[in-house]
Amino acid sequence: MYSMNSENYYSSENALKYMSVSQFKSFMDCESKALAEISGEYKRESTTALLIGSYIDSWFEGTLENFKSNHSEIFLKNGGLKADFAMAEDIIKLVSSQPKFMQYMSGDKQKIFTGNIAGVLFKGKLDSYIPGKCIVDLKVMRDFEPVWKDRHKLNFVEAWGYDIQGAVYQELVYQNTGERLPFYICAVTKEKVPDIRIMKINQERLDYCLAIVKEKAPYYHELKTNGGIHKRCEKCDYCKMTRVLEVIDYRDLTPELYSNQNEGEMAQNEDNNFTIKNFVEIPEFETKGEKHNKKSKKKKKIKKQGKKIKIELNFKE
Ligand SMILES: [Zn+2]
Repeated sequence: MYSMNSENYYSSENALKYMSVSQFKSFMDCESKALAEISGEYKRESTTALLIGSYIDSWFEGTLENFKSNHSEIFLKNGGLKADFAMAEDIIKLVSSQPKFMQYMSGDKQKIFTGNIAGVLFKGKLDSYIPGKCIVDLKVMRDFEPVWKDRHKLNFVEAWGYDIQGAVYQELVYQNTGERLPFYICAVTKEKVPDIRIMKINQERLDYCLAIVKEKAPYYHELKTNGGIHKRCEKCDYCKMTRVLEVIDYRDLTPELYSNQNEGEMAQNEDNNFTIKNFVEIPEFETKGEKHNKKSKKKKKIKKQGKKIKIELNFKE
């Protein structure tokens, strides 16, 4: 099989050929954004939060000095570390003092696995792989509080798709070694007094998530390779940046609020021949030709903005 290494892991060729957990999750969030990321039209913004994660990752990997020399932005003018990264140093001290945490993080670092799930090539980069024992992923996060997602309060593991990550990693390792290993999360928070946990994701949850991946991955792969109609979520940064304005029914902002209980109301409206759609008259301000021009200008502007954003493809798998 084609060999992948840390140099070409994040290459655009491999983003096209292989699906990663982060790409899969991006498709689940917003198909249009995911495709724009793959084509290079859109880059996620590099945040301090991501950089703190990378700082700690590189310490575990033994490449912190290298990381520091590549990221002058983490230093103050006097040569000291900026507050966020001084805090990262505190987190490193804390995890170092926890033998169990260090034990789970003592495996092979950033080991790359590839495999085929439901006919789609997948790649994964494991934070700590202990052959024959377990797969561990390191998470540095704000806190362990539940997260609101689609009107539901979810455990952060489910909200951020760490269960999907576990399912894919476990399957990739299984395909390469014949061993189905347990998946753990070593997590530490960036709170004033950091919290620290080692969590196992149960096998039933991993099986359930693998079934979701098997169901959706072929469709996402098809969108990636052959195109097709892809859905915009209309909520993410990419959708905001590329919106072409139209007048909408205010309720279309939150369709989930009206999907059940308001069906009766809508029906009544139709009976009275009074729907909001009939109410809206959209004035034509410009000819189609002009409209088209504006759109392409807008696109150019977005591309320009995109260049300003610092590119950091080092997001966590
Ligand atoms: Zn979107």
